[in-house]
Amino acid sequence: MKKSRTVGILGGGQLARMLCDSGKKMGYETIILDPNSDSCGRFGADEHIVAEYNDEVALKKLCKEADVITYEFENVPSEVIKFLKKNGGNVPQGEKPLYLSQHRIREKSAVNEIGVRTADFLEVKDLKTAKEAFIKIGAPCILKTCSGGYDGKGQWKIVKEDDFNNVEWKNREYILEKMIDFEIEVSCLVVRGINGDVVTFPIGENIHKNGILNKTIVPARISENIQKEIQNLSKQIVEGLDIYGPLGIEYFIKGEEVYFNEMAPRPHNSAHYTMDACNYSQFDVHLLGVLGEKLPEIKLLMPVVMLNIMGEDREKVDKILLDAETKLHIYGKTEWKQDRKMGHINYCGENVEKLIEKANSF
Ligand code: ADP
Ligand code: MG
Repeated sequence: MKKSRTVGILGGGQLARMLCDSGKKMGYETIILDPNSDSCGRFGADEHIVAEYNDEVALKKLCKEADVITYEFENVPSEVIKFLKKNGGNVPQGEKPLYLSQHRIREKSAVNEIGVRTADFLEVKDLKTAKEAFIKIGAPCILKTCSGGYDGKGQWKIVKEDDFNNVEWKNREYILEKMIDFEIEVSCLVVRGINGDVVTFPIGENIHKNGILNKTIVPARISENIQKEIQNLSKQIVEGLDIYGPLGIEYFIKGEEVYFNEMAPRPHNSAHYTMDACNYSQFDVHLLGVLGEKLPEIKLLMPVVMLNIMGEDREKVDKILLDAETKLHIYGKTEWKQDRKMGHINYCGENVEKLIEKANSF
């Protein structure tokens, strides 16, 4: 029997909740720190410290009580990590994965430097620099805020110069990217444990609706060669950038070409399928990784389609008929709001096309 250990988690949303559930199963205690007293992570955690992320008293308490501290969102300010470390906190992932993933130009430049392809891009500050960049890159492009964007927010498609008039120009940094005419979007969850073990989960094919992930299909409908290539690229990224812990990486595929799009140093929505269709879930491996345990080889037990449940789906959830293939996960958020992720369903079975049909008829 291993010595029981306590994992502290910055953030208390659904990812924290599922990390806590996984910790409970494996005999670890969990403490979440989140300013919202009703955040859904509290249902899984042994303790919930309700405090702002810069609350020094709360952070010191976390350092004292947790053997290891990790995070469930990428926008943790780097000062918080510095403060934890200064006060004896063990934060094995450190600031680096946050520093890189909080800024689209930083992350794309970093992966380019280790030889990973991205869309062409340029830094842009205002309308003038945007127009210059647009001439260099060529239409069509996509303009994004460098930080703070998610679920397609803070993005504008630019086909002609006039499209820049729709942009909300605030005093901030932007990136102008060439649009990739991809056939398919995929992602790979990779974990580099503190002991140096690296494992990758199977590639998920991602379908978005209004900029929000709707479905993940596994196995992705791409050749096995490209699947292997993406797993290798993902390993190359965590090792080349010296990142520890989990990393969810999104890619575009155009013919035989693979483009890195973005990454997040936390469990990833597109890997929720691992909870029912793999021998270990992304949450299990995240915890094992930051605790410095040996990482298990990951096996896909069966094909799966993960479908996100949004706030507007409440009535459908009330009527859902569960069957042998249909696994429901509800996070326990208090308010069912439009475009809010409330849960997901993993349709597990033999035939991916049938599972897709089933998900489509939800
Ligand atoms: P977010 O942080 O909002 O997920 P992404 O960079 O992943 O931001 O962009 C959201 C979606 O927009 C992507 O999943 C993809 O469908 C589309 N997109 C983003 N960048 C590009 C690009 N360079 N070329 C083509 N499509 C893009
Ligand atoms: Mg994305």
